[in-house]
Amino acid sequence: MRFSALRLFQEGVTGNRGWGPHWRDPAPKGEYDIVVIGGGGHGLSTAYYLAKEHGLSNVAVLEKGYLGGGNVGRNTTIVRANYFLPGNSEFYSHSLKLWEGLEADLNYNVMHSQRGLINLFHSDGQRDAFARRGNAMENQGDDAELLDRKGVKKYLPYLDFDNVRFPVYGGLLHKRGGTARHDAVAWGYARGASDRGVDLIQNCEVTGIDIAGGKVTGVQTTRGAIKAKKVAIVVAGRSGQVAAMAGMRLPIESHILQAFVTEGLKPVINHVVSFGMGHFYISQSDKGGLVFGGDLDFYPSYAQRGNLPMAEHVMEAAMTLMPAIGKAKVLRSWGGIMDMTPDGSPIIDKTDTEGLFIDCGWCYGGFKAVPGSGFSFAHLIATGEHHAPAARFRLDRFRDGVGLMDEEGTGAQHNLH
Ligand SMILES: Cc1cc2nc3c(=O)[nH]c(=O)nc-3n(C[C@H](O)[C@H](O)[C@H](O)COP(=O)(O)OP(=O)(O)OC[C@H]3O[C@@H](n4cnc5c(N)ncnc54)[C@H](O)[C@@H]3O)c2cc1C
Repeated sequence: MRFSALRLFQEGVTGNRGWGPHWRDPAPKGEYDIVVIGGGGHGLSTAYYLAKEHGLSNVAVLEKGYLGGGNVGRNTTIVRANYFLPGNSEFYSHSLKLWEGLEADLNYNVMHSQRGLINLFHSDGQRDAFARRGNAMENQGDDAELLDRKGVKKYLPYLDFDNVRFPVYGGLLHKRGGTARHDAVAWGYARGASDRGVDLIQNCEVTGIDIAGGKVTGVQTTRGAIKAKKVAIVVAGRSGQVAAMAGMRLPIESHILQAFVTEGLKPVINHVVSFGMGHFYISQSDKGGLVFGGDLDFYPSYAQRGNLPMAEHVMEAAMTLMPAIGKAKVLRSWGGIMDMTPDGSPIIDKTDTEGLFIDCGWCYGGFKAVPGSGFSFAHLIATGEHHAPAARFRLDRFRDGVGLMDEEGTGAQHNLH
């Protein structure tokens, strides 16, 4: 089933009766070449690229709930390539290029919108830091433009530029940054993988990982045992729990991140705006809701919901920067479980168990990484070699301390500021 303008028109005038399910719903087989644990953005894109780039389709994705029910359907959808450190820069740059061809590749409207991202700065020191970041982005081949206060005013006239605590000095504009529709990304990858023969198994929780003689042999699930030559763990906030099934202790803390959306409004915010001093960022969805969020809640948890003190903190930051927002009614809020690493950078690696691979540690920035992570992880699983843009995402950097990429300088304790 291909989507096209003609097809949309035909279905529109014939009552939309010709659309079929977007992916198959098979029963699990007893054995696969590769089992991917986790049907989030990263698991689905990994399966898609295994099939598309490497011709490997005897693959199952096992998801304990429904496809896209985790963070991939809970994030605030910001897509960008504005990282500073070598290791991260080339990876997110590659991922953004995949985003730019994604809709054509998947034949699916993921509503990728490069509306521009502006990171505000509020002191001379912050200006220097953003100037350096902009230079790093340009050196990587991505776009960056340093705006002074007047330049920001042109784009974002509705901000309070002279608020007492954090007057706006300027901003770093990343024009190719923007947003996408999060669950459409999960659906597009799911459909693409299923069409290529991958089995997507929902309501199938992995409860154990089978290992014999140092080699992975399969998994135990709520729908029975499944044998596999290779097993890939891609479960984001649950990484610590699932890795423990293979006897691993990961350098990961799970933390809650919340987001909020207002009632639908006429177009008012045309960009993604990030207010670093107040831990607040905002964009407007195509439906009209103002989508915004802030920092993590302040303690580790596996609960998929947040707490009121952080909600209050985010609202305060919003009012500081953009007092007009006080007139909008908040419609919903929700939380997701973030897999936080000590250096804020991810892991895509083999493990000490032969045939067992892991992709995790995306912190609060893994949505933009969905295409790049799936591409690089599929490459590692299929070839046994690290894909160049993700070569520094090694697990052993936390063992020996060599090659840490502390992009944000937040250090090992994400719950302590
Ligand atoms: C509020 C919020 C805002 C965010 N904003 C942004 C943003 O603007 N930009 C950005 O880049 N990133 C953002 N993120 C981060 C991003 O959403 C995540 O880093 C990314 O989605 C994680 O990867 P995933 O999609 O594979 O995770 P998930 O969708 O969580 O996928 C993991 C899957 O594994 C499944 N699973 C777990 N345990 C098992 C098991 N035992 N057996 C089978 N399946 C299992 C889960 O059910 C889940 O579906 C945000 C996150 C949140 C919560």
